Amino acid sequence: VSDARLAALRALLDEHALDAILLSRSANKRYLSGFRLGDAEGPTSGFAGTLLVTRDANLILADPRYTEQAANESPGWELIATSGPITDELPPLLLRHEIAALGMEAAVVTHADWAALAEAAPGVELHAVDDELVPLRLLKAAEEVAAIGRACALTDECFAHLVEFVRVGMTERDVALELERDFRTNGAEGLAFEPIVLAGPRAAMPHGRPSDTVIESGNVLLIDFGCAVDGYRSDMTRTLFVGEVPDAVRRYHDAVREAQQAAIDAIAAGVNGQELDAIARRRIGAEGVEPYGHGLGHGIGLETHEPPRLRRSEAYTLEVGMVFSVEPGIYLPGVTGIRIEDIVSLEASGPRLLTTSPREPLTVGGTVS
Ligand code: ZN
Ligand code: ZN
Repeated sequence: VSDARLAALRALLDEHALDAILLSRSANKRYLSGFRLGDAEGPTSGFAGTLLVTRDANLILADPRYTEQAANESPGWELIATSGPITDELPPLLLRHEIAALGMEAAVVTHADWAALAEAAPGVELHAVDDELVPLRLLKAAEEVAAIGRACALTDECFAHLVEFVRVGMTERDVALELERDFRTNGAEGLAFEPIVLAGPRAAMPHGRPSDTVIESGNVLLIDFGCAVDGYRSDMTRTLFVGEVPDAVRRYHDAVREAQQAAIDAIAAGVNGQELDAIARRRIGAEGVEPYGHGLGHGIGLETHEPPRLRRSEAYTLEVGMVFSVEPGIYLPGVTGIRIEDIVSLEASGPRLLTTSPREPLTVGGTVS
């Protein structure tokens, strides 16, 4: 992990008149110290490697489950072995380092932990610094883009496999299991998120979960999936045609594909994400259907969903170094759903697609023998 990352964090201390920052978000821990935690190992599981960065010290607080791992993964950090709750362990440490103003991640620290710490360390002002931390990971360095690219390449390979694999008569869950098996076999650290595999009218649920629903001829099959490589995520959606689908479904697929392409064509440094969202919405609206209810896209990196957000409600000006999804869709409840999603890296030469699977409709089929 580069010293520049820690230097950027320390600059925030001066900028916001803080003496230290306590880091609880897994992605920030990994970004700053190399310490790897699973998504389930959040702040609620105790001191699974909480970082405390003061003006002159880098401390990693870890309980016995994690001390060996922290020593291996985070060289250069002073390891503080802990055994009790935050309220017992942290106040003496704050006292010793003369911390009077402490930045914390309000979005991930539980309300109970926050309140307990406030009571146990009455002399310390606690400040939420979630927004202030966002710029640290907003622009990706070349090696980060490369890692996201490796995750995207595995996703493309997995998709090519699924196109051959899917058969009429399989369930959504069969496909979800196969894609996870394929990712792990090919070296992914794990899934980026629980995959979405939805057949027929169920594809109208933007975040539906795979079920025992059987894939039938004439269905669409929406697959939204991604993996993690070296901590970095991928996220891609394709909507397959199972056998012959109605003409209207083909038209909607064309509209989504054109909406996505129009948005991608408009990507440039200085453009606002809201403008891209509006471009995609206009193209879909021209089809006479309601555009998607979600945003057009989201940043991706050590987390699957992170800033920038490309949606109507948030103004993010795009910059070189941002990596984000572009994922318009059409959802007709009870009828069908179509989404196409790719990951774009905005580079000095312009936008570059990191996921490169075919975006024209692919027909899959065949019956389970
Ligand atoms: Zn997705
Ligand atoms: Zn996405």
